[in-house]
Amino acid sequence: MVNTTIKTTKSEEIFAAAQALMPGGVNSPVRAFKSVGGQPIVFDRVKGAYVWDVDGNQYIDYVGSWGPAICGHAHPEVISALQAALEKGTSFGAPCILENVLAEMVINAVPSIEMVRFVNSGTEACMAVLRLMRAFTGRDKIIKFEGCYHGHADMFLVKAGSGVATLGLPDSPGVPKSTTADTLTAPYNDLEAVKALFAEHPNQIAGVILEPVVGNAGFIAPDAGFLEGLRLITKENQALLVFDEVMTGFRIAYGGAQQKFGVTPDLTTLGKVIGGGLPVGAYGGRRDIMSMVAPAGPMYQAGTLSGNPLAMTAGIKTLELLQKPGTYEYLERITKKLIDGLLLIAKETGQEICVGQISGMFGLFFTPGPVHSYEDAKKSDLSKFSRFHRGMLERGIYLAPSQFEAGFTSVAHTEADIDQTLAAAREVMSGL
Ligand SMILES: *Cc1c(COP(=O)(O)O)cnc(C)c1O
Repeated sequence: MVNTTIKTTKSEEIFAAAQALMPGGVNSPVRAFKSVGGQPIVFDRVKGAYVWDVDGNQYIDYVGSWGPAICGHAHPEVISALQAALEKGTSFGAPCILENVLAEMVINAVPSIEMVRFVNSGTEACMAVLRLMRAFTGRDKIIKFEGCYHGHADMFLVKAGSGVATLGLPDSPGVPKSTTADTLTAPYNDLEAVKALFAEHPNQIAGVILEPVVGNAGFIAPDAGFLEGLRLITKENQALLVFDEVMTGFRIAYGGAQQKFGVTPDLTTLGKVIGGGLPVGAYGGRRDIMSMVAPAGPMYQAGTLSGNPLAMTAGIKTLELLQKPGTYEYLERITKKLIDGLLLIAKETGQEICVGQISGMFGLFFTPGPVHSYEDAKKSDLSKFSRFHRGMLERGIYLAPSQFEAGFTSVAHTEADIDQTLAAAREVMSGL
């Protein structure tokens, strides 16, 4: 059913009150809809492929809590596992068997991971992995890519491209220059730039960290040979290769991008899906490297709530559900249906768009493309995206409120959901 005149009075009231209570009215910036304009809707509950706002409007959701909801929101088996775990207490601060179970599942699934450490967020995982890269190699410099996001830690808040970034200047006030001085940046999919950085800084670069498929600059896939090239260059320079699979892990394949592309990094970070909707992050990799982490080794890293029994339970149940045969084939099929449909509608309505998709992760840019880097992504027509986003929201389709975010499907999304989404997209694109 298409409804272009949704009522959002309660959302507006609650969000207005929130502005006085929390910076920008939110606890994470993108939620505020700043880049698309208009008011965010305030959620009341979520289930399967759907979310409901406080005014009672229902939406088909393509954000999935920014990735974790791959089995659909509030999956009954995850909920009942959590209810059972809840009876035993909410936090132990001591070893529990659930940590072994999830650790074993992660180690068995992800090619690079021989040992793992659980933390509470993707940001934490990336902070820790950076310290580990430096501790293991005895080198300080790292290479990251323009448009890749590795959480909000100081050392990662640098983007390349502009002169500012090339100098390693921070993106945010409050980040000291000294903290980002060792963060080198290169354009995504540019092996020559990476080679040049290694040549410029011999024996000083601890490693390279990247999103093996970018989701935080919109959806950008690695060019053929890019991941393989990075593997080769890092080996040649005795530097580490780190895949930040906080988004792609258990998302584009059960074993993540490294399984999908057959390139094994030295270290990997995880988050989002492995928490099944509760706060979890993880980092892991080669046993010799992970053995440096305290208390096995000298590299300090700790967490009061790390390995939390509820978070482990949600993660275990989610991974179990994902192991069902056909999961990733289904995600691939319905997401492809969505993406192919959008491309066709764009053609018929005269919109120039560029789309991409792997399994249940996708993106759509309002530019003819191709998009190989953040520079390319920035050519998108942002005002057109904003109008598209608003039009879709008014028709009950909840998309990420930024051109520079990926979209997600779940196993709960049906063909009918996709059809309904495409019908809305046809109306909106016709009027853009
Ligand atoms: C979401 C994300 C992070 C940060 O994780 P949080 O749990 O939000 O701290 C880091 N890296 C990538 C690739 C992400 O997508």
